[in-house]
Amino acid sequence: MKRIQNECEVLVIGGGPGGAMACSNLVQNGIEAVLFEKEKTPLLKVGENVIPHFWKFAELMKVKEKVEKEGFVFKAGGSSCWNGKFRKMKFSDFNYSTLGMHVERDKFDKLLLDHVETQGAKIFYEVKALKVINDKGGVEVEYHDLANDEKGTIKCKYLIDASGQSSLVGLQENLRQYDEAFRFNAYWGYYKGGYYLDANANFVEFGNQLKIKPMTIQSNVGEWGWVWHIIQREFTSLGIIVPKSKRGEYQSFGDNNVKRFESAIRKAPIIKELLTGSELIEDMGIKSIIDYSYQPKKFIVGNCYMVGDAAAFVDPINSAGILMALFSAYSATWAIIRSFKFPNRAEEYKTYYETQMQDRVEFFKLLAYPSEYITDEMIERNRNIVRQMGSSENQLAFTQCTLTNRSKNLNELIGDHIPPILEDLSLEEVLRAAPQR
Ligand SMILES: Cc1cc2nc3c(=O)[nH]c(=O)nc-3n(C[C@H](O)[C@H](O)[C@H](O)COP(=O)(O)OP(=O)(O)OC[C@H]3O[C@@H](n4cnc5c(N)ncnc54)[C@H](O)[C@@H]3O)c2cc1C
Repeated sequence: MKRIQNECEVLVIGGGPGGAMACSNLVQNGIEAVLFEKEKTPLLKVGENVIPHFWKFAELMKVKEKVEKEGFVFKAGGSSCWNGKFRKMKFSDFNYSTLGMHVERDKFDKLLLDHVETQGAKIFYEVKALKVINDKGGVEVEYHDLANDEKGTIKCKYLIDASGQSSLVGLQENLRQYDEAFRFNAYWGYYKGGYYLDANANFVEFGNQLKIKPMTIQSNVGEWGWVWHIIQREFTSLGIIVPKSKRGEYQSFGDNNVKRFESAIRKAPIIKELLTGSELIEDMGIKSIIDYSYQPKKFIVGNCYMVGDAAAFVDPINSAGILMALFSAYSATWAIIRSFKFPNRAEEYKTYYETQMQDRVEFFKLLAYPSEYITDEMIERNRNIVRQMGSSENQLAFTQCTLTNRSKNLNELIGDHIPPILEDLSLEEVLRAAPQR
């Protein structure tokens, strides 16, 4: 049995994509990385739609081949049914050599963790970090080894908090800020059977998803609510986003909650037809995530860097959470690696990380927020950020925004310079081919 040491160079809290990316970059640069994950093995969670930007980070982690071999569902593109309009986009129209995926997050996260373990990271499962104490020149972390029911402390030079929505450091230091204009809850469950849409918006029976590539579907309900449909290998994840003010209608009420959930998601256009002949897997339960959108007052405290959801999460509409976790973990470890090499410049690297993260969060807000909440100052600041992004990255973001037409902000920002690549179909046309039962 591996024993938890008393000291290490960098401690990483949390074994999601953010934690795995952090470990990989550290050990590849010769820095010791110890990771605590509180679960026995990664759990199923939201964040199942992986957009093609992922592969850039998979290459940095040297895990691309293993992910390709795992056999997750590759997706052809995305579609939306928004305010009566049906729109779709194909990844093949963009400059990406690899497609997006629909992944089971327990398997995806485990694959990344197993990989970074082979690269030399020391992974400890069932170890929960309890408290972080910033000390001059280092950090001390109190933990609970749940399997052995033992408590202990470990010292490190730098800490990466990748604890996801638990935000260990952010909550401990009271750094989390909510935006009153943007408070939502999500409820989701898993279905067997039914149908999905392929790249040409044909209805295809569940079971063919490895041969005929699906599209992800987002379908809106009411004002600012929407349903997602993400088909995976064994089941389909369906979830609904509702404003927090409507929480009472969806809270857990035993069996009654299942009925409410089912009736709410079936109200979204196309979803009822896609669920023809399907069955909710009740044993897997209806899961929820409450008030998931926030950002911190700052991204670094002492020598603790916050990455991924532990720092900030804006909105799932653009499926960029995993990407943001990977990007922030890479940037944080870049700063830490440089700080080990050039300790007298450590503060400069912290400022670099802080600025990068503030900019990214502003950008994702611009993509997700209703137009009326966006200030001229935000638009101006984002113009510079957009200029630094690659053209296919820009084009995909612009197309994703236009797909739902939920927010016009990116359109305002880059205007007609980068036209979206998408196709409009009438909803009646798509539904004409829906299965009848
Ligand atoms: C409704 C909804 C839908 C979403 N859909 C998508 C999508 O389709 N695509 C996408 O890219 N993103 C999506 N996201 C976002 C995505 O789920 C997250 O951004 C992503 O999982 C963040 O990765 P992470 O590594 O930061 O944290 P996580 O993946 O949450 O990992 C954190 C890990 O830390 C562990 N942990 C927590 N506390 C402790 C502790 N004290 N000690 C030790 N371990 C601890 C947890 O067990 C967990 O394994 C969605 C989010 C929401 C709310």
